[in-house]
Amino acid sequence: MNGNIGGFDARERVLVIGLGRSGLASCAVLRARGASVYATDEKDPAALADARAAIERAGVRFVPPGDLEKVAGELTSAVLSPGIPLNGSLVRRVQAARIPVFSEIEVAYRICKAPIVALTGTKGKTTTTALIGELFRHAGFTTHVGGNIGNALITETAVAEPEDWVVAEVSSFQLESIRSFKPRISTILNISPDHLDRYHSMDEYAEAKFRIFANQSAGDAFVGNLDDPIVGALADPEAGNRIPCRAYWFGRTPRRLTTLYVRNERITYAPPSGDPRPVEVMPLDEIPLLGAHNVANVMAAVLVGLTAGIAPDVLRAGVRAFRPLPHRLQTVAEVDGVIYVDDSKSTNPGSVIAALETFDAPIVLIAGGRAKGTDFAAMGEVVKKRAKAVVLIGEAADEISSVVDPARTARAASMDEAVAIARALATSGDVVLLSPGCASFDMFGSAEARGDAFARAASAQAVAHG
Ligand code: ADP
Repeated sequence: MNGNIGGFDARERVLVIGLGRSGLASCAVLRARGASVYATDEKDPAALADARAAIERAGVRFVPPGDLEKVAGELTSAVLSPGIPLNGSLVRRVQAARIPVFSEIEVAYRICKAPIVALTGTKGKTTTTALIGELFRHAGFTTHVGGNIGNALITETAVAEPEDWVVAEVSSFQLESIRSFKPRISTILNISPDHLDRYHSMDEYAEAKFRIFANQSAGDAFVGNLDDPIVGALADPEAGNRIPCRAYWFGRTPRRLTTLYVRNERITYAPPSGDPRPVEVMPLDEIPLLGAHNVANVMAAVLVGLTAGIAPDVLRAGVRAFRPLPHRLQTVAEVDGVIYVDDSKSTNPGSVIAALETFDAPIVLIAGGRAKGTDFAAMGEVVKKRAKAVVLIGEAADEISSVVDPARTARAASMDEAVAIARALATSGDVVLLSPGCASFDMFGSAEARGDAFARAASAQAVAHG
């Protein structure tokens, strides 16, 4: 068993704070472990009715936020859902009552019997987490994938056996609240500007991500991207050996520190011990994902697999079998020789740059949405070079239009209109690319809904144009 305090079992009386997906998962797992479970949430009671009915059926006691102090004396600990701010009033009141508060991922770790691969990064997390899961399954391990990827980590770790693996996607927000969370293998894909509405500086954002290896020790491993300026700087002796375990690096070119690199268009492994001769893992053209950024994602996943002792040929077969996830550079239609690519999960300027650099064909870019305090200048430069036209949507339209060529820019009030304008600007051989570089919430419920609206509008073109 990991950790040293709190078995989160029949001896405990635990308050779950927040009844979103993760909170409901915590309630279910804690009940199954025999704990007495209480739950609270500040949302409007009407909006909570279904969740409340479900947990009460499972024997969880709902505590209205106003009554917290009444039950505080009964509680042994509290579990916080990822969406609830650490410095919010609910958490402060629970802490004031001297109840220790743990984040869901911390509890997930403490009850976990299996080794954990934990992955973070600004972009590519979900793709790479899913790929690592696929590679470990290919190698014959029972593998549990969870975290930021969609299903609560606690649901996965609760059922993992010691010989299994757990693969966890963790966000910087989740890492802020860990205490003893200690992955067997940690990895950071990249760190580029994002969430600067929440962090005061890039340094602060990077420090949150560096917490992924903070509790690791000699028997553990870290896998890092040497090409990323912020992650790669950790390899610099000047950085003062901040990584407390063995570090393995991947990069586009062979260097002294790269255990995995590209040579002659092939991913190549330089074993760090034993026979030092390089081993060819796979040619780049076998990678079933578009773009140079996905080569980095694949290298991260392969190096994690190698670190766990999986053979190169098994990893190669696993990568070949992987299919791109929806809304990440996903081709959704082809009409009159124009390809429509849904990259709705591109929610920061870095992923727009990665998307633009993926295609050799002329691009009509659809971008915009709700900005997150990031600077669009670098993205603007790449847009000017790579996009023949830009259709802007959403709140950030003005901000983005100030960094791109106004003569090649149009505005649209809806996704249907954006696709219709893009269609008119595109000719056979072009790519119409939805890669917004912003959050979706100004116009859509989620990035998925935004991508679906794009795919629908693109398919409607196919019908209209026969
Ligand atoms: P995350 O879970 O970190 O948001 P995803 O795998 O869901 O990452 O991909 C989100 C977006 O980022 C997609 O537009 C995808 O094409 C792009 N992307 C994926 N990997 C990278 C990368 N290594 N660098 C830049 N952009 C990337």
